[in-house]
Amino acid sequence: MSLSVVPDPSELSLPCQKISSAMNSHVNGEHKHHFITSYNGDVDKKKNLAQHQCNGDHHEKDKLASIETAYTTILKELGENPERDGLLKTPIRAAKAMQYFTKGYQETIHDILNNAIFDENHDEIVIVKDIDVFSLCEHHLVPFFGKVHIGYLPNKKVVGLSKLARIVEIFSRRLQVQERLTKQIALAINEALQPMGVAVVMEASHMCMVMRGVQKMNSRTVTSTMHGIFREDPKTREEFLALIKQ
Ligand SMILES: [Zn+2]
Repeated sequence: MSLSVVPDPSELSLPCQKISSAMNSHVNGEHKHHFITSYNGDVDKKKNLAQHQCNGDHHEKDKLASIETAYTTILKELGENPERDGLLKTPIRAAKAMQYFTKGYQETIHDILNNAIFDENHDEIVIVKDIDVFSLCEHHLVPFFGKVHIGYLPNKKVVGLSKLARIVEIFSRRLQVQERLTKQIALAINEALQPMGVAVVMEASHMCMVMRGVQKMNSRTVTSTMHGIFREDPKTREEFLALIKQ
């Protein structure tokens, strides 16, 4: 089997297709989180549901205003004065930024892969590496960011390479944990292309580790998910891992 390595996730359209099997993910490096559970969780959910039902359009503007108000509260409770010049527009800016950071909730894989999958007899591994990823840790709402490397062995179906980066974007622009994000990317590719195998490796720095607690400046967390031939055949997996390190 030969391999093709594509370092740039732009342009081009290449091949791909199906895999079965469980997935494997491991984490190097430690990452401790505090879980905060709202005791009113269920009540709040019902309230939200009722709101959405009574007006299918709980408009975007209303949502933005609510988030803005929440940020004003946060500023006050932190001991700041939301009325001072520098902070006057901060709540609305922060609200818009947060909506942008979580815009992946509004997008689906179907939207972006529509018309982007091609029939192609390409039987070499396709690798797109160094895809930038920015996400928010769902435990602290602070960023984690790094690189994602994707490989798949097509089984008659391929997808435009830029779409792989778009898949990363859809799942990373949500509240996440790195392990789940890695799996979701692999699963989406698996379902869409049904390749012989798919491999996803992500390395990221978590601001919740870097900025708080022990402040491990250079710690990185590495996660991986392997499906199909990448999981079953050590040689193929090793080839993939070697290629993304180059
Ligand atoms: Zn965190």
